[in-house]
Amino acid sequence: MRKIGLMGGTFDPIHIGHLVAAERSMEACGLEEVWFIPNAGPPLKDRAPGAAPEERQRMVELAVQEHPAFRVLDLELRRGGVSYTYDTIEDLQRLNSETEFHWIIGTDRILDLPRWHRIDELAARIRFIGVDRPDEVGRPSDPGEMPALPERLQERVIRVPIPQLAISSTTIRTRIGAGLSVRYLVPDAAHRYLIEKELYRLDG
Ligand code: ATP
Ligand code: MG
Repeated sequence: MRKIGLMGGTFDPIHIGHLVAAERSMEACGLEEVWFIPNAGPPLKDRAPGAAPEERQRMVELAVQEHPAFRVLDLELRRGGVSYTYDTIEDLQRLNSETEFHWIIGTDRILDLPRWHRIDELAARIRFIGVDRPDEVGRPSDPGEMPALPERLQERVIRVPIPQLAISSTTIRTRIGAGLSVRYLVPDAAHRYLIEKELYRLDG
């Protein structure tokens, strides 16, 4: 069985928090590769994304292009509509036998798990890797702690402590909108792209 990590997100835009989470999960859990999956429409978010789907996908590609073990999949973007992880996993498992999938999520999203579409069936098919993420005001999550989840789900989550990076795509969009720098928060190649395309600029 090969182990593959999956990192789903809006990536609007991708930032170093996503990349550190993927790299550390790979190392801690012995993953062969991590596949990034930009979503078309995230079910648990109510705002419309700022950049177009092709632009979000392109930024992820640019950000991971030099990593030999990182790949980008466009299956959720091609499927369109609301992206349910369950549907994505069904597709991926059909196409990849002998593969154990690990879905990487920040601690901010672990508590949402019970609300995910077909969560019990999903949890029977894959494992989750829960990585540290500070809360909105920058308070670190406790690396030793598993958020309060029903026991049947807790068993399926592997906690991986990572450096706590108080970075979000929301802060990045807000900074750009205010004319501030996001250099180094977004990897270079993706940063050049968003500047060139004038993404997230209120006057752009
Ligand atoms: P937004 O502010 O638009 O919600 P985001 O920064 O939360 O964007 P998403 O694309 O929503 O990024 O996140 C995708 C996945 O990456 C989620 O599982 C999220 O918890 C995780 N993640 C995002 N940023 C970090 C971070 N700084 N540290 C750890 N995990 C993160
Ligand atoms: Mg988020």
